[in-house]
Amino acid sequence: MVRVGAHTSIAGGAYNAVTEQVEYEGNCGQIFSHSPQVWQDPNIDDEEAERFRELSEDNGVGPWVIHSSYLVNLCTPKADLREKSRDSMQKEVEAAAKLGIEYVNVHLGAHTGAGVDGGLDNAASVLDDLAIPDGVTVLVESDAGSGTKLGGDFEHLATVGERTDQDIEFCLDTAHAFAAGYDISSPEGVEETVAEFDDVVGLDRLACVHLNDSKHACGTNKDEHAHVGEGEIGEAGMRAFVNHDAVADVPFVLETPTENGKGFAWNIERVRELRDE
Ligand SMILES: [Zn+2]
Repeated sequence: MVRVGAHTSIAGGAYNAVTEQVEYEGNCGQIFSHSPQVWQDPNIDDEEAERFRELSEDNGVGPWVIHSSYLVNLCTPKADLREKSRDSMQKEVEAAAKLGIEYVNVHLGAHTGAGVDGGLDNAASVLDDLAIPDGVTVLVESDAGSGTKLGGDFEHLATVGERTDQDIEFCLDTAHAFAAGYDISSPEGVEETVAEFDDVVGLDRLACVHLNDSKHACGTNKDEHAHVGEGEIGEAGMRAFVNHDAVADVPFVLETPTENGKGFAWNIERVRELRDE
């Protein structure tokens, strides 16, 4: 059975993310542990965490992913930003342990002048500085690759994985990969891209897929998500991707928009329709 769910909200209590997920008929999912636009610590009490775990278990929802703050920049050469990023990530992995959440997802960020090699070094060393609790794994997500942001090239993911001493895994965002130049709009393109990911990073380290269509063309480096099958990746590409053997057991987390009368429930149903089961 396909694992597919959405990014849901913890407003009013972390457990509300589970209730929302169940409403959408999702069976895995992602949350922010706090507002992702500001530096803030997760503030989740024991009772709330316990209820999150229980509700997830009772409803068969999992795995969950915490998506880290958008302000985190692992590649930065700036000492103060590095420190804030490290502290924020440390709080996220601790919140994950508290909630029984398996994964914390993070973007590499932008090297802002440190160069690709320097930026990847910075990312590996800041990951090394984390004390990651047992049962929690950091996922480095593929990026659309605009400006000096790293992670658009699968090689960047592989290099950070080689350079850090942490046992990290990876998240492939289909919209980001497409924007970064991996053309998954056809079955052949999906085949080639999955093979390349396997070659460069290794499918055994692919723990999560952010399944999003893209509003912009392949190679534009523009990151704007579309409804599944209705963007530039389109139905043929999405159908081929969700049915690829290599991702059969990988959870799909949707970060699709809510617009034109379509939201997460529609997109989750769409994925189930596209998947031959
Ligand atoms: Zn994503």
